[in-house]
Amino acid sequence: MDRTPLIAGNWKMYLSVAEAVQLASSLAEGCRDLADREVMLAPPYISLAAVASAVKGSIIQVAGQNVCWDKEGAFTGEISPVMLKEAGAAMVILGHSERRHIFAEDDKLVNRRLRGALVFGLSPILCVGETLDERERDATFTVLETQLTEGLKDVGHEDALNVVIAYEPVWAIGTGKTASNEQAQEAHKFIREVAGRLYEKKLADKIRILYGGSVKPENIDMLMAQPDIDGALVGGAALKFESFDRIIHFSL
Ligand code: PEP
Repeated sequence: MDRTPLIAGNWKMYLSVAEAVQLASSLAEGCRDLADREVMLAPPYISLAAVASAVKGSIIQVAGQNVCWDKEGAFTGEISPVMLKEAGAAMVILGHSERRHIFAEDDKLVNRRLRGALVFGLSPILCVGETLDERERDATFTVLETQLTEGLKDVGHEDALNVVIAYEPVWAIGTGKTASNEQAQEAHKFIREVAGRLYEKKLADKIRILYGGSVKPENIDMLMAQPDIDGALVGGAALKFESFDRIIHFSL
């Protein structure tokens, strides 16, 4: 299938501006040999412009970790899609489990942000995933279907092609527990089926679905070998050059 792999690093609320620039420069240097994949870094907002300039000319793109739906206004604490673009971002992470669970963002808000991002030309990475309790109650597919249907509400065909989905089981984020290759593949296949129902199969076959949840150098190759896994969204292991550079260099 013709989907360019994407390895995305989410730096969360870590790294000073100087540390972010140094890591981004090393990563850009480290992936000069690669042309068959895309890499993305989502630094804290304050480092965005500096990181974007450090990776200019490389295969690395930068992203926001969230975004408001409007271009400007009285939205204290928010960041505008136009401002993200001005700082050099091309993408934005939305609906991350930390936003959903710590900051109570629901599907409706995530959808509003996502539609705003698309209006202003940012490609969203829509994160979906079940909690441990939901998995144990056999509710994984129901949760995924709801998050996808609500998250992509009123998003047309053309725009849907610019959306990347990230399957991130909440129980695997930052816990060291990775979904097995089979569990991840099963969820990714289901997500593609839902996208096929929401749009059409041809479009669903083009949408990239990333896996996130304790991705490390030791498990990236097996995860990437699964037919419906098109990349990874990496937290902890994206904060160190050695581990993220190895993940970026997964074998195709
Ligand atoms: C994440 O923050 O999206 C994530 C998957 O984190 P980690 O890789 O640390 O589990």
